[in-house]
Amino acid sequence: EITLRNSARAASTATASMGERTRGDFPILKRTITDQETPVIYLDSGATSQKPQDVLDVLQSYYERTNSNVHRGAHTLSREATSAYEAARDKVAHFVNAYSRNEIVFTSGATEAINLVAHSYGRANLAAGDEIVLTVAEHHANFVPWQLLAQEKNLNLKFVHLDPETGGINVNELEGYLNERTKIVAFQHVSNVLACINPVKEIVQKVRRHAPHAAIVLDACQSLPHMVVDVQDLGVDFLAASGHKMCGPTGIGFLWGKEQLLNEMPPWKSGGEMIDQVTLESVTFQAAPGRFEAGTPAIAQAIGLGAAIDYLEKIGMKDIEEYEHELAEYLYEQLQTVPGLTLLGPKDPKKRAALCAFYHESIHPSDLSTFLDMDGIAVRAGHHCCQPLHAELGIPHSARASCYFYNTKEDIDALIAALKRTVDFFA
Ligand code: PLP
Repeated sequence: EITLRNSARAASTATASMGERTRGDFPILKRTITDQETPVIYLDSGATSQKPQDVLDVLQSYYERTNSNVHRGAHTLSREATSAYEAARDKVAHFVNAYSRNEIVFTSGATEAINLVAHSYGRANLAAGDEIVLTVAEHHANFVPWQLLAQEKNLNLKFVHLDPETGGINVNELEGYLNERTKIVAFQHVSNVLACINPVKEIVQKVRRHAPHAAIVLDACQSLPHMVVDVQDLGVDFLAASGHKMCGPTGIGFLWGKEQLLNEMPPWKSGGEMIDQVTLESVTFQAAPGRFEAGTPAIAQAIGLGAAIDYLEKIGMKDIEEYEHELAEYLYEQLQTVPGLTLLGPKDPKKRAALCAFYHESIHPSDLSTFLDMDGIAVRAGHHCCQPLHAELGIPHSARASCYFYNTKEDIDALIAALKRTVDFFA
């Protein structure tokens, strides 16, 4: 009987989905949050991902055994902290296939990474009358820094709209905006509302052909955690990402930039660490990435991000991508069965990431999410930091369910059942 039970268990492990196999790695997914002891069904990974035990262990061990400041101490703890911090940089460089480790600048997140490019590259290289091309679907993090730069320097902003046929970005419209005066083209790899996966390489080709002086900034917040992202293959100039969306801690993210570009850019924050020589009369700066990391960095968080990358690589990014395609299709198909819902983004489920924003013809998104919460289901409601996109769509806000590899089709079934109950209740 024991043999039978064991072999049955082996068979079920072999057929278990990635979600079933990995969810046990995430302690928070074991907790319950309602009176009925309903386990949490977390469908808000687009906002932030959960953290596996491996990452929690590394953070605890860092503070218990290594905690010290980096780059400045001659003692053992500082040497160990420095080498763990710099090892995390190596892991990020390898994860995105950077040409060099010097191309990875640690930041507090994607928002700070994009601000770095706008403040440093933007201020140094753009002049009145120059043009920046964005899409209407950008997260405010890839919108407002460019708006402020445009106001400061009298630049022209051009916005690419949605393609009504595909539901994604209108790449042909983008081509029409490119010219000699285009200095920045900034867009998302994957939209946090539309779920469209933008054709980065096709866009890069068009930019290189028609806008020879443009730097291409890719917001990879919603792609890097979910698929293989290779900066050399994509051919962009800058890439921004947040660690907390890819199983790492909050407070850490990074900018990848081509080394030569980074070294030509002036610092945008200053103080300790980033300098080479300071005298009463003058100051010189370190080469990249040091010149962009002023002050004591987020050491534990960077090391935690390194542990998150180890964990993701152990599972395998190709397998994550494949599994999430399954979830993406299932989520989109199942949401279509809920009466009164309009789903945002591409209609072809194969062109979608594993998230879906939606609204109901008569129920406010906040009511939807509050009712789902009573069943232990976490989704997001609001404008998802994309007010211009919602204005374009003619709605003030939406609800959004977003999956990660630790989700299962059963999580989606629970969402659909709870949505149908909610719709019935309001009917
Ligand atoms: N860009 C996209 C597409 C996002 O989804 C987010 C976060 O939701 C950001 C940028 C900003 O990331 P962070 O707040 O971690 O800096």
